[in-house]
Formats: sequence, structure tokens, C-alpha cells
Amino acid sequence: MADEILFYCRDCDKVVLNPKKKGDKYEYTCPLCSGDRVAFGTKHAICDFFNIKDAMLAKMLVNPVKE
Ligand SMILES: [Zn+2]
Repeated sequence: MADEILFYCRDCDKVVLNPKKKGDKYEYTCPLCSGDRVAFGTKHAICDFFNIKDAMLAKMLVNPVKE
């Protein structure tokens, strides 16, 4: 099974869904804070790097925080 790609905003400290892509570059804008400090990678890499637990991730994905 292919690993899912996730986006993570360093400013919001959370996984964000459907960030906006900036032009032709592989840079993404956070839909919550409009910042561009969005990292992306496989679910495994993102969770490992940002130390996100499975339960935390599930919460972020099911219940995105409205700002
Ligand atoms: Zn953000």
C-alpha cells in the first residue's frame, strides 16, 4: 500500500488538508494561517519528523480546527 502524502504547517503545528500550491514551485500555502511554512512528505516521514502520534494524527484529520 502506498504511503499517503501529508502536509504539515510549521506555524500551526498541525497537519493541514488541501493546502494551496504556490505557482509552479513545490511550495504550499497553509489554508489556516496563509503562511508558506508547509512541509510535505509521506505520512510516515511527517509523523516521524514532527513526532506526531497516530491518535493525534487521526484527530487532526477527522476534526480540523477552525480558526
Ligand atoms: Zn498554518
